[in-house]
Amino acid sequence: MHEDVFDVVIVGGGPAGLSIGSELSARCRVLVLEKGIAGTTDRFWFVPPEVLDEVTRPFSYGGVTRFLTRTYSMNGDDLAWKAKLYDSYPYIKDRELLTHWVGVIRNNGSNVLDNCLYLDHETDDSGVTVTSSLGTFRGRLLIDASGYNSSIIKKYAIDQSEFYWWSVYGAVGEHPDGIGDMQVGDYMMWQTFKDADPGSLADGKPVFEYEILDEKSSYSLILYLCKEKIDLETMKAEYTRIISSEETTKEFHNLKVSSFRYGWYPSGALSQQIAEDRVAFAGDSGCWTTPCGWGMTFILNNYRHFAKGILTCLANGTLDKQGILRASLYRTHDKYEIMMNVIATHFLANATTVELDRFIKLFRIIDPILCEKVFTLKLSKAELMGMLPVILEEFSITELCRIIPAVGVKNLLLEGGYCIEDILLDSIKALFNSDSATEEDDGFDFDDPKRVLNV
Ligand SMILES: Cc1cc2nc3c(=O)[nH]c(=O)nc-3n(C[C@H](O)[C@H](O)[C@H](O)COP(=O)(O)OP(=O)(O)OC[C@H]3O[C@@H](n4cnc5c(N)ncnc54)[C@H](O)[C@@H]3O)c2cc1C
Repeated sequence: MHEDVFDVVIVGGGPAGLSIGSELSARCRVLVLEKGIAGTTDRFWFVPPEVLDEVTRPFSYGGVTRFLTRTYSMNGDDLAWKAKLYDSYPYIKDRELLTHWVGVIRNNGSNVLDNCLYLDHETDDSGVTVTSSLGTFRGRLLIDASGYNSSIIKKYAIDQSEFYWWSVYGAVGEHPDGIGDMQVGDYMMWQTFKDADPGSLADGKPVFEYEILDEKSSYSLILYLCKEKIDLETMKAEYTRIISSEETTKEFHNLKVSSFRYGWYPSGALSQQIAEDRVAFAGDSGCWTTPCGWGMTFILNNYRHFAKGILTCLANGTLDKQGILRASLYRTHDKYEIMMNVIATHFLANATTVELDRFIKLFRIIDPILCEKVFTLKLSKAELMGMLPVILEEFSITELCRIIPAVGVKNLLLEGGYCIEDILLDSIKALFNSDSATEEDDGFDFDDPKRVLNV
């Protein structure tokens, strides 16, 4: 048995583990276990400036390199869809920020152990014993920040059936012959489910996107949103097909790949954050990160709040499931934004191709940027509320309740200030007044009480 007893043992040295660990280490003893080297993830993250400002303020932008992407406006009705995106989105050098946090934790007298694989844990009345490849450690609380494939979560009967997964496969590469018409800062998303394509995202149809990094290199990837994670080989094969043979990707046909980027991350449909006695879940493992835009963004938005909640639990000794849940819930605002984006997720994943096209058209006509935000799950509450009357004009309540869980539709209507009874009555009337209903129920008199009873 290792002699040291820590307040908190964190499994995972990714964005969630290190950000929360850096906050906690200012007030208590923390141990971070990382199976690789902490903070060396090579994922690409785009994080909104306001979030980044909040995070970087304490060290005066010292460790963070940022640049703004140049943007494009809509390109008519072309198949290739260039959207104005990430208008003022900075690109954050992930490693520098994460490495900074590793330093903070160590400078605060806490520990980060590299090459240390979590194996198992047991909880008891006074704490938790964690077994790892480098020995056994004791803490008062365990935080699982080990990502989408958490083995800790598998120990518990946590229902993941409502989760959606983004399966992502992409590459950074050089274009030996230059980049054709494209220019630095170009960003585009290309939808295969558009037009006559019979598939939809629900079937795992890909969305392809790219960003031009400089005159000779690009970052491109495909994303699938679906119920099941798509296996790596399938993603790779589809990426290769798109990148090497599609007309719309002709600039990429001679791409010289320098590194691949791939992975899965959850777009959770959990309405609550999850916890167990003496175990808290953070980041992708808790699946409470990604419904609100990209995961890293949400982690950065919430890590201080989460850490504050954990400190309260430690101070009060409320380390049971309920105590942890109470203290570490999202800020109300963020929770609401999550709800909005879970609705968007449901739409992307559950709507048929035709419905999705109607949805997209609706947003495009009003504002293409809004459409882009739907896809990147960045629609704000105010924006969705602004669109609500148009959505209700286009979609019947019956349709909406099939695509989005009924409770989501209800919340949406309530928040929009609608009277649910009136809306239901209207949609029932519309049902009976529709052509098909008239044909089938010729002579139906909605106001005839006898007829209603017969029904
Ligand atoms: C290709 C791709 C592109 C993305 N782009 C964006 C983007 O643009 N913007 C954005 O905000 N988000 C983006 N995301 C999502 C974002 O990367 C994740 O939501 C985020 O990394 C989750 O952080 P995390 O700390 O919870 O988990 P992870 O980043 O997965 O970190 C978990 C850590 O735990 C370690 N670990 C796992 N198991 C064990 C174990 N048994 N023992 C010890 N250590 C263990 C892992 O080695 C890893 O270091 C992208 C994801 C992918 C895959």
